[in-house]
Amino acid sequence: MTKYWDLKATLLEKIKARGGWTNCHAHLDRAYTITKKNFALSNKLRGEKWQLNRELRQRSTVNQIYDRMAMAIEVLLAQGVTAIGSFIDVDDDVKDKAIQAAIKIRDKYQADVTIKYLNQSSYGLFNQDKKAREWFDVGAEFVDIIGGLLKADAGREEEHLDILLATAKRMGKMVHVHVDEINLPEEHETEMLAKKTIEHGMEGRVAGIHGISINARPQAEREKIYKLINKAQIMFISCPVSWLNSSRSEKLSPIHNPLTPVDEMLAHDITVGIGVDNIADIFMPFNNADLWLDLRVLLEAARLHDLDVLAKIASTNGRKILGIK
Ligand SMILES: [Zn+2]
Repeated sequence: MTKYWDLKATLLEKIKARGGWTNCHAHLDRAYTITKKNFALSNKLRGEKWQLNRELRQRSTVNQIYDRMAMAIEVLLAQGVTAIGSFIDVDDDVKDKAIQAAIKIRDKYQADVTIKYLNQSSYGLFNQDKKAREWFDVGAEFVDIIGGLLKADAGREEEHLDILLATAKRMGKMVHVHVDEINLPEEHETEMLAKKTIEHGMEGRVAGIHGISINARPQAEREKIYKLINKAQIMFISCPVSWLNSSRSEKLSPIHNPLTPVDEMLAHDITVGIGVDNIADIFMPFNNADLWLDLRVLLEAARLHDLDVLAKIASTNGRKILGIK
């Protein structure tokens, strides 16, 4: 048989030469929670999935959370992953159970992989019934990087960012925030994040996760957004498979693929890394933390064929985003 140029093998070699894969974004504590029972509901609206996720957080034991995280890490290690950034839920439902599991995980795998934890506050920061702020403070104390979810505080996004950024600055930590994920032109969260980053003097210490809706804006507006991102020195994490399921909409916008606009970001010298996001849970039941699949989707959808650039995205860029020297 004629030998052909194995591009995948070539790219994998380059990633290895750069210190191995970095998975910048995941929710390891919810991994492998899909069951025959809840799978039937996995095609429902996000709101209903959040409800299911809530019950799961209440019910799970520390050992169950540990087992899920360990299984995901084994899957990632088998691919040659050397660094992971993972959100863990810290809220009134799960309390500190994910923190306890995360400590055990870091002990167990400390020789194999560098893990950076981030706090997920599913009730935002202002829900008093759920003691949201108290649990945010507990999470912020434990994690390596302060995590944010603007959608959890709809209407109070700016205050949410003020608290994240001020807390991170005080603690000398970085910030990662889910932004502009629903692929609609009315989302302006990236600009808000950039402005707040500058206001708090946190330039170069902040990453946005997703940023998909930037694509839905006209080119002149996108240019302004990239300039603002540059000014705030914000880095981006693309989870290429994660939002391929974004809903169909009759809204008009420039034609684009539903993932982080990596092609344009790279042209503006913005640091981009990748992550697998949700693993085999109610949100992404088929996702088995396959970084090659994510990189492949990214290279196709962003028309990115430069092997060295792709290898950087999959490895060293990710470590920079996670603050790993
Ligand atoms: Zn996420």
